[in-house]
Amino acid sequence: MAQPAHGWTAYVGVGSNLDSPQDQVEQAISAITLIEGCFLVAKSSLYRSAPMGPSDQPDFINAVVAVLTLLDPRTLLAKLQEIEQDHGRVRDGERWGPRTLDLDLLMHGTAVIEEPGLTLPHPGIAMRNFVLLPFAEIASDVVVPQLTDVATLAQRIGTSEPAIEKLAL
Ligand code: ATP
Ligand code: CA
Ligand code: CA
Ligand code: CA
Repeated sequence: MAQPAHGWTAYVGVGSNLDSPQDQVEQAISAITLIEGCFLVAKSSLYRSAPMGPSDQPDFINAVVAVLTLLDPRTLLAKLQEIEQDHGRVRDGERWGPRTLDLDLLMHGTAVIEEPGLTLPHPGIAMRNFVLLPFAEIASDVVVPQLTDVATLAQRIGTSEPAIEKLAL
């Protein structure tokens, strides 16, 4: 993939519901800024939301960050997965189960990719209020490839399923 001189803007969804989730999210954002070739451009508020899928688990804390990155999508995802591992992420096979840290690469420039291990844009964006509400805070005008702009997607999503609230700063 050709690397533009000024890099790409990428958006990362950050989530946690174990071991002091708010700290996990803040620390993960710090770790993202320390990735070589990644520069933090914007950070949303934090949101608390009821778990999607298995309900026998704690609430999630979610946020979205924008980074300017010189890394291609696969390299960036690998770095994000390293951070998940550093935060003690255990993959026990349960889909949408509890986790200390989940870093989803929501978008990478205008890339549209469907490969084993990497789908871009992330396929959950349009259905998830805990992605769209923080995303719209920092990137309302951005068009999600093959969809529409983030503000429109956020206006279409409900705030009750799952129940979600913005945390006070
Ligand atoms: P969801 O992807 O629906 O939010 P999840 O976050 O619980 O579910 P994980 O167990 O964290 O899913 O990830 C499963 C796999 O998804 C990872 O191994 C990763 O390779 C793959 N994957 C594909 N596209 C992406 C993407 N855009 N961002 C992050 N992971 C992705
Ligand atoms: Ca469970
Ligand atoms: Ca996820
Ligand atoms: Ca994930």
